[in-house]
Amino acid sequence: MQPRILIVYTGGTIGMTEDLSTGALVPFSFDHLMKNVPKIGRLGFNLDHVEMDPPIDSSNMNPACWARIASVIADRYEDFDGFVVLHGTDTMAYTASALSFMLSGLAKPVVLTGSQLPIGEIREDGTENLITALQIAAARTDAGEPMVQEVAISFGRHLWRGNRATKVSSTNFGAFQSFNYPPLADMDLHIVFRERLLARPATGGTLAAALAMDDAVSVVFLYPGITEAVLRPQLESKAVKAVVLRTFGAGNAPTESWFTELMADTVRAGKVVVNVTQCPAGGVEEKRYATGDALARSGVVSGYDMTCEAALTKLMYLFGQGLTATEVAAAMVKPLAGEMTV
Ligand code: ASP
Repeated sequence: MQPRILIVYTGGTIGMTEDLSTGALVPFSFDHLMKNVPKIGRLGFNLDHVEMDPPIDSSNMNPACWARIASVIADRYEDFDGFVVLHGTDTMAYTASALSFMLSGLAKPVVLTGSQLPIGEIREDGTENLITALQIAAARTDAGEPMVQEVAISFGRHLWRGNRATKVSSTNFGAFQSFNYPPLADMDLHIVFRERLLARPATGGTLAAALAMDDAVSVVFLYPGITEAVLRPQLESKAVKAVVLRTFGAGNAPTESWFTELMADTVRAGKVVVNVTQCPAGGVEEKRYATGDALARSGVVSGYDMTCEAALTKLMYLFGQGLTATEVAAAMVKPLAGEMTV
């Protein structure tokens, strides 16, 4: 039987065209995209598509759009073997992370891809990325099971776990990297899957789409010279229930008393503070330095080796589930969808 794949088109460079009046790239229709990839028919797949109206530059992505993508996948889950989400690269890692939490029990591929140059340009990477993503979504194991049973990003020469990936280049055709988890597949002459690295749902798992995401979450990036006057209003804001604290190195932060007291006050006020390193590779080891240990003692929880994208969307998802701050803090240190190594 022909593989049945649903393409969810959200926008991004892959489907953009030049606005003749300004010269800027603007999202275009799905039909325009397909007209420029006639060889897609040679795959012999049974394809259908859903288009976000209007298609967007992914800088405009938000939790409401994530809910739309997740509900399309959940509603049509039984009708398709796999799903390809066409998405701008700028926030693709956030969407992949969000979907990985929102779609629990996933046992089919959800493959996000996009491109650095629009399909239809003379030189471009979009055609290759689209075709490869479709092939990955259709791939099966020897036992006939879907090869990929998780949310992944297929881009350039690699397939990445979605909630481990991050955008690293605005120009390179290999725009994504996952520093703390190896590629799930390498795409050269052949698509070679690393089967032992692929996630599998817990036995008996059925898909459950959680669409509520709580956006009362923020990111604070530390830097030498940060002051209490700058930081306290952010952490005391009533609009914020949780903060991803981007710390130095192995999870270190200033040990000046105003800082450690502010962290303790924030946690005492019932907020969740998650320690995630600014380093792209490696993770938080709180006990390694006194500067990290001080944070842990003020009640800040470790984000281990999570990306910022994963930590942020995990907080949104957990608070969206209606959990209390104590429950969220406890859940943050446990892997939900392969996003961390504890
Ligand atoms: N600004 C574009 C977007 O994220 C960039 C891209 O697709 O590569 O939608």
